[in-house]
Amino acid sequence: MSCRLCGSSDDGDLVQQTPGFQLIRCRHCGLVRTEGPGLDLTYDGDYYSAHALQDTMRSLRSGGARVRLTDFAYAAYLDGSSSWLRRLAALPVRNRLGGLPPRNESGSRLLDVGSGDGDFLRRAKTAGYQVVGQEINPAAVASARKAGLDVHLGPLEAAGFVPQSFDAVRLWHVLEHVAEPLAILKTAHALLKPSGVLVVGVPDFDSPARRIFGARWAGLQLPFHRHHFNPRTLRRALSVSGFRVRSLRHRSVGTIYSSLTEARRIPQALTVPAWLGLLLLDDALDLAGQGDTIDALASPS
Ligand SMILES: [Zn+2]
Repeated sequence: MSCRLCGSSDDGDLVQQTPGFQLIRCRHCGLVRTEGPGLDLTYDGDYYSAHALQDTMRSLRSGGARVRLTDFAYAAYLDGSSSWLRRLAALPVRNRLGGLPPRNESGSRLLDVGSGDGDFLRRAKTAGYQVVGQEINPAAVASARKAGLDVHLGPLEAAGFVPQSFDAVRLWHVLEHVAEPLAILKTAHALLKPSGVLVVGVPDFDSPARRIFGARWAGLQLPFHRHHFNPRTLRRALSVSGFRVRSLRHRSVGTIYSSLTEARRIPQALTVPAWLGLLLLDDALDLAGQGDTIDALASPS
């Protein structure tokens, strides 16, 4: 099996053994790949009912306070006419949204690749974006369409989108799922206008959270995550796909909390001080460039 970033056919080094899978780091470029049986799984089973959809439903059932707060933060950020006071009020939540296009920059036609049940599309649409989604999970697409969203069912390359027709393409936690990350980046490049922006997010395999939790790190998501990036390999993937990296920073999505609850080191329902403590820890790690997720903006070069 060759490295999908640099093409090297070296065996690579084993960096993590998990039940059923090996994580192998390419000796040439450092990209980590998942090896093991059952990697050609699809997302047509219960993937979303087990993940995003149920999360959304749970939040809605629990009074929807979290959903409303997140909606408020998205709107405050995405809506160009937001007052500074509204934006300031939304800041603590906004720091945790991730995957946002730069505000007030280019046009408003946005494609969300792997749009899931359309949660982000719905929010961007409310904020005035002209949104289109793409998703391979039929149940998720049905759910998004029911909400009035325009979502293509099937692979991105087969969607028939017009080249150079989008101001923003969002690959939010998508690259790590695909067998050919460079191919999807090149497709995204072809769909973007020359003035457009690519929004990318991936877990950081070299973050302290992964080093501490190892095989139990919530960012591994095996076998769904086929590749595991760090800032260096993400930069390289973007540049060989024709992008210029405009910004790259850490924005944690809470894998420490998830890893601790999964390992049953802490209860799932946290006290408010404990929850705030974990949020502050995430912020401190992000500031030090050691967070669990990399958030990047890139333009066609
Ligand atoms: Zn490589």
